[in-house]
Amino acid sequence: MWRRVAQLSSLVPSSKAFLRNQPQPPYGLQTCGAFSTEILKPAKDGVPTTTREKLPFITFVLGGPGSGKGTQCLKIVETFGFSHLSAGDLLRKEISSNSENGAKILETIKEGKIVPSEVTVKLIQRAIESNNNDRFLIDGFPRSEENRRAYERIVGAEPNIVLFFDCPEEEMVKRVLNRNQGRVDDNIDTIKKRLEVFNALSLPVINYYSKKGKLHKIRAVGTEDEIFERVHPIFTRMEVMKRK
Ligand code: UDP
Ligand code: MG
Repeated sequence: MWRRVAQLSSLVPSSKAFLRNQPQPPYGLQTCGAFSTEILKPAKDGVPTTTREKLPFITFVLGGPGSGKGTQCLKIVETFGFSHLSAGDLLRKEISSNSENGAKILETIKEGKIVPSEVTVKLIQRAIESNNNDRFLIDGFPRSEENRRAYERIVGAEPNIVLFFDCPEEEMVKRVLNRNQGRVDDNIDTIKKRLEVFNALSLPVINYYSKKGKLHKIRAVGTEDEIFERVHPIFTRMEVMKRK
């Protein structure tokens, strides 16, 4: 048990460790905290506090690397008018914008590990707040129970539904190695680590939502259109999709 905890914790750098390695501002002005969350206030008495009149409809989209989350999200966007927020893309944007966390995020992604929750949740929260849509797909997040709890604590809400693209490992590896998007983590060594992280840390999140009755498991084998045929009815039968 001890060994397992130690193994798992090595997969998730703490935000403190992340911070420690950042160049510090002069005069000890660390208090502004590179990972503080600023936009939404945490929930009070279980009631989420946002600047919107109506809470948006949030769908988390989960599945291993190469399970087809991003591809299916594009189809859901076209058909059901969602805004697509890929946590991985938000992190990659941070890297290319030369933000102060960029180098550390890049290192974490190369190792197939999970970026500290505060960093990712803040990016997601900002993206939601700057978009007036009433429905969002959050793709590739939460990747751990710690991610999930941080989201609930900071945003003060739970997702309405969760999709899980269930795909055999060999198929996922084949797709990632063939996708040619120039990603630093699409190589066999990193993929192996990402699969390990997925099994150890992301599957418990999927089990959590399954127990809560929020999970929709989709068999993610077949053509893009065949898989979308399995996704489509999940949304058409939902009342919220009729709201304009
Ligand atoms: N990542 C992370 N937290 C997230 C989402 C992504 O730390 O919430 C990092 C992690 O290192 C992951 C990488 O970004 O391996 C790529 O994630 P993405 O979702 O883009 O990969 P996919 O599963 O689509 O291949
Ligand atoms: Mg993706």
